[in-house]
Amino acid sequence: MPTFVYMTRCDGCGECVDICPSDIMHIDRTYRRAYNIEPNFCWECYSCVKACPQHAIDVRGYADFAPLGHSVRVLREEEKGMISWKIKYRDGRVKEFRFPIRTTPWGSIRPPADYTVPDAAGLGTALLAHEPEALEVDALPTLPPSRNNKV
Ligand code: SF4
Ligand code: SF4
Repeated sequence: MPTFVYMTRCDGCGECVDICPSDIMHIDRTYRRAYNIEPNFCWECYSCVKACPQHAIDVRGYADFAPLGHSVRVLREEEKGMISWKIKYRDGRVKEFRFPIRTTPWGSIRPPADYTVPDAAGLGTALLAHEPEALEVDALPTLPPSRNNKV
């Protein structure tokens, strides 16, 4: 479900622009309010929904599985440390979900430039760049050999 902005609630702070991994949250040059420039490219990660201090961003279901008449409301309650979702179906049923806000401090994640540049030998391993140290483990778990994969 891609996102959209209630422009009357938005104050143009730009938090959603900064956090969007798909770079599709932009500020309208005339109205100075945010909008999703390309819903088809939305990752549906909802980082913008959770980051918006004005509760100005909601999500809209695709018509094939969420026909007109439903609504999805997202509420960020910073003081409670919770994100609340309220799903309303066309037949009137309501479902509510609550999840804790991630508490990793802003800016505390090391950017890729802080790691040493991987060498070409890494291409021959199953590890991704900077694994396993970036995961803060000594080694990734491996599957024990079983009778099924013995030759
Ligand atoms: Fe960008 Fe994610 Fe928001 Fe979509 S849900 S607009 S990808 S931050
Ligand atoms: Fe508007 Fe919310 Fe985006 Fe700020 S984070 S620009 S208030 S939609």
